[in-house]
Amino acid sequence: MVELTTGDLSFPGSDELLALLHETLPAGWVTAVERGDEEAIEASKASSDRREIVRVLGDAGWVAPHYAPDYGGRGLTRDEAQRALTLLNSWGVPFVPPGSGLPLAAPTIEQWSSDATKRHLLPPLLSGQERWCQLFSEPGAGSDMASLATSAERDGDEWVINGQKVWTTFGHQSERAMLIARTDPEQPKHKGITYFGLDMTAPGVEVRALINMAGQREFNEIFLTDVRVPDLDRISPIGDGWAAAMTTLGAERHALSGSGKKKRKASDEILGGKPYAEIEAMAKTHHVGDRLVVRDRLVSQYIAGRVLEMNILRARAQAAAGHPPGPEGSLTKIAKAASNQHLQELAIALLGMESVAWREGDADAEEWVTQFMRTRANSIEGGTSEIQRNIIGERVLGLPREPDLFKGAPWREVPRN
Ligand SMILES: Cc1cc2nc3c(=O)[nH]c(=O)nc-3n(C[C@H](O)[C@H](O)[C@H](O)COP(=O)(O)OP(=O)(O)OC[C@H]3O[C@@H](n4cnc5c(N)ncnc54)[C@H](O)[C@@H]3O)c2cc1C
Repeated sequence: MVELTTGDLSFPGSDELLALLHETLPAGWVTAVERGDEEAIEASKASSDRREIVRVLGDAGWVAPHYAPDYGGRGLTRDEAQRALTLLNSWGVPFVPPGSGLPLAAPTIEQWSSDATKRHLLPPLLSGQERWCQLFSEPGAGSDMASLATSAERDGDEWVINGQKVWTTFGHQSERAMLIARTDPEQPKHKGITYFGLDMTAPGVEVRALINMAGQREFNEIFLTDVRVPDLDRISPIGDGWAAAMTTLGAERHALSGSGKKKRKASDEILGGKPYAEIEAMAKTHHVGDRLVVRDRLVSQYIAGRVLEMNILRARAQAAAGHPPGPEGSLTKIAKAASNQHLQELAIALLGMESVAWREGDADAEEWVTQFMRTRANSIEGGTSEIQRNIIGERVLGLPREPDLFKGAPWREVPRN
C-alpha cells in the first residue's frame, strides 16, 4: 500500500523538491498523487522515462540528500534525507539509478576516498549518468577473493591494470566498475590490494558475454589489458583495498537480503523469483489450494517470509542508528536465498507437468520456470551460503577461524589454482 503524502514535510528544500516534481513529472502523475490514485500513479510511472527522472533528481541532489552538495547531495542530516526520500516514495517516484552504484559503490567511496575522488566519482553516479558494475571475482578467486591476481602497477599519475574478471553482472551496460587489483604482490594476500573506480570505456577493457542457464545475458567476463587508470579514480588508500571491499560486500549482503516488504522493491527484482502472493494465487487457479499438503507448504513459506521480514527490520534499525552493515547481513542473506528458492520450488511443484513441458507460446509457464532458474543463483551471488555460514561461525558465534596454511606469507609465494 503506497502511503500518499502531499504536504507538511519538514526538511530543508522541501518546497524546491515539490516544485521540481511538478515541473518534471507528467501532469497526470501529479493529479494522481493529489487524488491518492495508486493505479494512476503506477500507469504514469510505466509510461515515463525512469532514467531521465533519476537524472533530474540526481542533478538536483535528491538521490542521496545526506551527501555534501560537492559530492552530489544536499548536505541534509540522515533524518532530513529520510523524510525527503519518504516524500519521493509516497509519490511513487523512482530515484534509484540503475546498477550497483548507489547501494554498493557510493557507501564505499563515501567511507574510503579522498575529497577529490568523491567530487569526481559521486555526482555522475548519483545522477545515473554512470552506471556501475562490480569487478571482484576472478576465475581463480571467487570465495577466496583475496587470492585475486589482477595486477595494478603504478606509472606516474596512472595505474596500469592487467588481468581477468568474471561473473560481472551488467558489465555490458556499465560505464564504471568497482575494481580490486593487486598493487603489492610481496604483501600477504589480504594486504597489497587496492580499490579503483574503473572507466569501462577505457582502451584495453574487453567485455565478453556469458549466457546463464535461462538463456539470458546477465553477466560477462572482462579482460583487462594494459588499461590505464588515473590515480584520481583510486577509491581506497593504496594497500587498503581489502578493507574497502568489505564495506562493499557488507552493503551487498544487505541488498541481497531483499526488502522484506510484501510489495516488491528493486532489491527483490534483482534476486528474481515470484512473490508469495502470486504463488498462493496460482495454487488456487490450479485447484490445488485446498489440499492439506499444499496448504502446509504455503503456510511454512508464509512464516519464513514473515520471520525474514522481521530480521530485515532489525538490520534496518541498526543501520538507521548509524551502525555500519555487520555480520547480521549474512543471516538475512542466507535466509532470503533459502526462502526464495523454496518458494520457487513450491511453484514448480504446483505447476506439475507444465514446468517441464509447457505448450509452445505459454509465456506464463515459461516465466515461472525462468524465475525458478534465476533463484538458483541466490545462494551463490554476493558470496555463497557456505561462506556466509563461515562468517556467522567466526564473527557471531566466535568459533575458531578457518585454518590458513599460508597465513602471513607474501601473496607471490602462495600456490594458486
Ligand atoms: C548471478 C551471479 C551474479 C554475480 N555477479 C557478480 C558480479 O557482478 N561481480 C563479481 O565480482 N562477482 C559476481 N558473481 C560471482 C560470485 O560472487 C561468486 O560466484 C561467488 O563468490 C562464489 O565464487 P566461485 O563461483 O568462484 O565459487 P568457489 O569459490 O569456487 O566455490 C565453489 C563451492 O565451494 C564452496 N566453498 C568455497 N570455499 C569454501 C570455504 N572456505 N568453506 C566452505 N565452502 C567453501 C562454495 O560455497 C561453493 O559451493 C556473481 C555470481 C552469480 C551466480
